[in-house]
Amino acid sequence: MDGRDGRAAAAGVYLGIDVGGTKIQTSLVTQSGSVLSRHRGPTPRDGQSDSVLAAVVAAAEETMRGNAFEPARLTALGIAIPGVVDPQRGLVVVTPNMSLSGVRIGPYLEDRFRVPVALGNDCNLGALGESWLGAARGTTSSITILVGTGVGSGIVRKGKLWAGARESAGEIGHIVSQIGGPQCGCGNCGCLEALASRSAIEREIRAAVAEGRATVLTELVGGELSIIRSKMLRDALDANDALVTEVMHKASEVLGYACLSVRHLLDPEVIVLGGGVVEACGGFMLPIIDAILASDQLAGARSGGHVALSALGDDAVVLGAAALAATKAGRNPFKQRNSILPAYPQIGDATPGELVVGEKTFSTDVTIHVDGKVKKRKQAQVKQRHGTTHILDAVEVRKLCRGGPEVVFVGTGHANQLHLDEEARQFLSRRLIKVELLPTPQFAEAYNACSARKAALIHVTC
Ligand SMILES: [Zn+2]
Repeated sequence: MDGRDGRAAAAGVYLGIDVGGTKIQTSLVTQSGSVLSRHRGPTPRDGQSDSVLAAVVAAAEETMRGNAFEPARLTALGIAIPGVVDPQRGLVVVTPNMSLSGVRIGPYLEDRFRVPVALGNDCNLGALGESWLGAARGTTSSITILVGTGVGSGIVRKGKLWAGARESAGEIGHIVSQIGGPQCGCGNCGCLEALASRSAIEREIRAAVAEGRATVLTELVGGELSIIRSKMLRDALDANDALVTEVMHKASEVLGYACLSVRHLLDPEVIVLGGGVVEACGGFMLPIIDAILASDQLAGARSGGHVALSALGDDAVVLGAAALAATKAGRNPFKQRNSILPAYPQIGDATPGELVVGEKTFSTDVTIHVDGKVKKRKQAQVKQRHGTTHILDAVEVRKLCRGGPEVVFVGTGHANQLHLDEEARQFLSRRLIKVELLPTPQFAEAYNACSARKAALIHVTC
């Protein structure tokens, strides 16, 4: 059996489903981790088990239809639930925000789709996703902490989740960080979640406003401070809002000390931070967290594993669900991470003003994504932002890094014109994504020779 046959025999296609409190996100994922199609729909507001199950089935079918994918070709399905699950029995033990508690969702979906179904907790699967293709790729041990409405985490060792004796390990959000602190949704007081989640940040801001403090948020949300989205927090930080800066600084410190405890307890190779709050405000939070880790006085610990930002963002949970599905189907995606790669095009001749990619000749700048898809660079948009196409900024790098490349190649043009701005460099380094900047003629050789998950942007014309 040659390599190609080996790959074909091992190739599977999986559905990853993330059932969240407000939305259901579904992706069709290949063995190499490429997303063939995605779907996002609302979680039924009534939260009743029948309507949630119906919405999950509809989302799964819609995702396959979106790619004209024959359901009979599906290898396995993985589903993430926000709560405590019993993966062996496919049972949802407790979900606080919807009535799936006690529902045997595994057998239900197995019956419906006739494939093995893997079930996991959403934060655990987010961690598995980051360990497979994200910021913890290639590590033996990692923990991923997700900061959103709540705070959760997942611990991965050698491609396997540390789920605990009762599947409830990783509940970092409920580690008491302040004795006698504010009450948490779980009933205990002073939990990390009650101090550093978006809900806690909102509560602090509202309390200060009630006491007469001013904040630009009142303007940003139109006077109604009942829901403060993460993006608004970032806008307030960008505007140097004193109250939001103070509250976010405190929340970041609490998270920093939580990371310090994690280091001392588990000593993981990398601690990955993600979730809505970190996605939006990571640039502000990470330096504070890093400073706390760097101040560690415990001999020998200070140089220990560093903190990175989630490299998969919104896709982490669905990709982790797909990875768990693959494992359930007996195909270890971690072992195959470097042997089964997306089909990447060969870069051919690069003359000034022209570049051959695969079968096609481009006379524009080109982007090649981690799934091997080739696109024209949106040069007009870049020109609008910077007045030149010679700057690669964080907006573009973020799009280029969707799906979790290990390396980003940048062909800087024949005269080495293109460069990354500071924000783009930080985006990559904080996600532990390597970057190779090479003049376009040398770029081709380096890109073609690289056998990792890769993305590229090549400057061809101005
Ligand atoms: Zn709690």
